Amino acid sequence: MILDLKLLFAGGEPIKIDYTFTPESGIIDGCSPVKVTGILKSISSVIYMELNASFILTKECDRCLTIFERKYDIPVKHIVVNSVNNEDNDEFIVVEDMTLDLDELIMSDIQLTLPMKHLCKEDCRGLCSTCGKNLNTGDCNCTTSRVDPRLEALRSLIE
Ligand SMILES: [Zn+2]
Ligand SMILES: [Zn+2]
Repeated sequence: MILDLKLLFAGGEPIKIDYTFTPESGIIDGCSPVKVTGILKSISSVIYMELNASFILTKECDRCLTIFERKYDIPVKHIVVNSVNNEDNDEFIVVEDMTLDLDELIMSDIQLTLPMKHLCKEDCRGLCSTCGKNLNTGDCNCTTSRVDPRLEALRSLIE
């Protein structure tokens, strides 16, 4: 969505945002359409953007390779100005032609927020390095390769 901010910079009524867009393929693999809600309002010639981007990500777990879905709600908050002279600050978004490509901004915010690693759950046990069994579904028979750390401690006491 391309937002025309001319009226808002002139002190116009807040703009309510409620729309869904489909990200261009290749930006974030496995990303569902993104629902965007929130508001843009102008306060003394700068625009305050307070949005929420909601979507579902389908990923392969980096540890156990299971495909899983996770819902994300990412806040998209920015201060938008129409002149570089306002202040030199990285947190500001400068729109010199009074328009803003909202989809693009939201996608880059999402990219910055998403974790580097995708785990199906925080304590995912992954695959057995010997037999390849998914250890989240139960133990395998390769007991020799994985010694219980408590047993290990006992053993070192005895020795
Ligand atoms: Zn996993
Ligand atoms: Zn195993």
